[in-house]
Amino acid sequence: MSRREFSKKVKRDAFVRAAGHCEGPGCGAKLSLGKFAYDHVNPDGLTGEPTLENCAVLCDPCHKEKTKNDVADIARAKRREDAHRGIRPPPQIKSAGFRPGSPRRRATTPIDKLKIGYRPHGRD
Ligand SMILES: [Zn+2]
Repeated sequence: MSRREFSKKVKRDAFVRAAGHCEGPGCGAKLSLGKFAYDHVNPDGLTGEPTLENCAVLCDPCHKEKTKNDVADIARAKRREDAHRGIRPPPQIKSAGFRPGSPRRRATTPIDKLKIGYRPHGRD
């Protein structure tokens, strides 16, 4: 699914409707040049259409917050849709792992202390 941006007309009409203020719920901050965005109320990644009704003029903080929530909503919707279509994540193949290695050999033969006359206490 490709992203469907708002047309210039939709953006112009939305800007007029916003009358210079953020349309985020309970925000109403004054919009300043380059510090706002035209947001899909119903995310484009879901079923959002690029229409005036689905367009909100948001200040940057509102847009950032909204986008964060949208990303989570879209991911959740995709997982649900996949489950509905019987698409599941591939099973995790669990490796048996490596067998424990054999004891390491040395390049030189270790000196056997018993052979050179060392006798620890309590041993013979
Ligand atoms: Zn705002």
